[in-house]
Amino acid sequence: MTAHLTETHREVQALARDFARTRVAPHADQWNNDHAIPREVLREMAELGFLAVAVPEEYGGAGLDATSLALIVEEVARADAGASVTIAAQNGLVCSPILRAGSDAQKEAWLPPLAGGEAFGAYALTEPDVGSDTANLRTAATADGDGWRLSGSKMWITNGGFADVFVVFARTGGPGARGVSAFLTRRGEGFTVGREIPKMGLHSSSTVELTFDGLAVPADGLLGAEGEGLRLALATLDGGRITVAAQACGIAGHALDVAVQYARERTAFGGPIARFQGVQFPIADLAAKLDAARLLTLHAAALRDAGEPHGAAGAKAKLFASAVAVEAADVAVQTLGGYGYSAEFPAERLYRDAKITELYEGTSQIQRLVIARDLWGADAR
Ligand SMILES: Cc1cc2nc3c(=O)[nH]c(=O)nc-3n(C[C@H](O)[C@H](O)[C@H](O)COP(=O)(O)OP(=O)(O)OC[C@H]3O[C@@H](n4cnc5c(N)ncnc54)[C@H](O)[C@@H]3O)c2cc1C
Repeated sequence: MTAHLTETHREVQALARDFARTRVAPHADQWNNDHAIPREVLREMAELGFLAVAVPEEYGGAGLDATSLALIVEEVARADAGASVTIAAQNGLVCSPILRAGSDAQKEAWLPPLAGGEAFGAYALTEPDVGSDTANLRTAATADGDGWRLSGSKMWITNGGFADVFVVFARTGGPGARGVSAFLTRRGEGFTVGREIPKMGLHSSSTVELTFDGLAVPADGLLGAEGEGLRLALATLDGGRITVAAQACGIAGHALDVAVQYARERTAFGGPIARFQGVQFPIADLAAKLDAARLLTLHAAALRDAGEPHGAAGAKAKLFASAVAVEAADVAVQTLGGYGYSAEFPAERLYRDAKITELYEGTSQIQRLVIARDLWGADAR
C-alpha cells in the first residue's frame, strides 16, 4: 500500500523496514524483558537520522518531514512498539516544540545533541491529578530573580528515565490555559526522577514520574512566550497524534502478519484453519481497516507537511488507527487460540501493547472532542 508515496518516502520506508527487521525485531523480547533498549541501538537510530527526522540539517536533523516520521514509526512499531514510542517522543514531543517555539540559542543548544543521540528528551505535561484536563495543570513556576523555580509532579513521562532535557509545562500565571508556560529544563538539585512505572505493555519504553521541588530554571529556559505554554503543548500533540496513529498501524500490521501466517500453518479438522470463513473474515476485515488507518495517518501527515491545519485529521487518524490496533491484537490472539494467550507467542505482547494507543496523547474520547470541536467549534465540550 505504497502507490502514492514519493521516491524519497519509499527509500525512508525501506531503510526503516530493514532496520526494524534486522536490529529491532530479533531483540524485542529481550528488551521488553529488560525494560530497556540498549544505548548503542539508540545511537544507531541517531546515525540513521531517526531521532530528529523533521529537524533541518543545519541542526543535525535528517531534514525530512512528518510523512517520513510516520513511515519510520510504523516500521519500528511493527517490530517493537516500545522502541517506536522512544523515537516518536524524541521527534514529536521534544524536537518539535523546540523547533516551533525555541530561540536560536535553544535550538542550537539542544537540537544537534538530540539529533545525534548524545541527548534524549521527554515531554512533561500530564500530572498525577490532571491528564485530559490540561488547562488545569498545577505544577508551579514561580519567578526567582531572572529565572524560575519549578514545584510539582509530572506523571507517565516517556523516556524520562534516561532523558537529559525535559519540556515541562507549568503555571506561571492565573488559572486556565493562559496561565501556563513551557520550560526546557535539565536534571539538577530539586528534581527527582522516579522509578519506572510498572505497565501493562510497552515494556521496552521508559515511563516515570518526575518531582520538582524548587528546581531552578534560568531565564533562558523559558520555551516560547510566557503564557503560551498550553498552546505549544496542544500544537505539539497535533503532530504527536500522527505518530501514535503510525505506531498503531505498525502494531496492527504485526498482528495481521501473525494471524495470516498462523492460520496458514495451523491445521484442524483435516486442513489449515485459514480455509474456515470464521477465521478468514475477521482477518480480511482487519486487512481492509489497516489500509484505511494507514491512509488516514498518511493524509494527516501530508497536511502537516503542506503546512495546512491537521489537528482534526490527526485526531481522526489516531482515533481510527488505535481502534484498529486493539482489534487487530484481539484477532491475532483469537486466531492463535490458546497459543495466543501464551507469553511465548507474539500475539500476547501485541495485545498488551496495542491498548496504549487509545490512551496517550489524548484518549479516544479526547480525539472525539477534538473532532467535535472541528465540527461545531468551541461550543462542543
Ligand atoms: C505509557 C504512557 C506513556 C505516557 N507518556 C506521556 C508523556 O510522555 N508525557 C505526558 O505528558 N503524558 C504522558 N502520558 C499520559 C497520557 O497522555 C494520559 O494518561 C492521558 O492523556 C489521559 O490522562 P489521564 O490518564 O489523567 O486520564 P483522565 O484525564 O483522568 O481521564 C480518565 C477517563 O476520563 C475520560 N475523560 C476525561 N475527560 C473527558 C471529557 N472531557 N470527555 C469525555 N471523556 C473524558 C478519559 O477519556 C478517560 O477515559 C503517558 C501515559 C502512559 C500510560
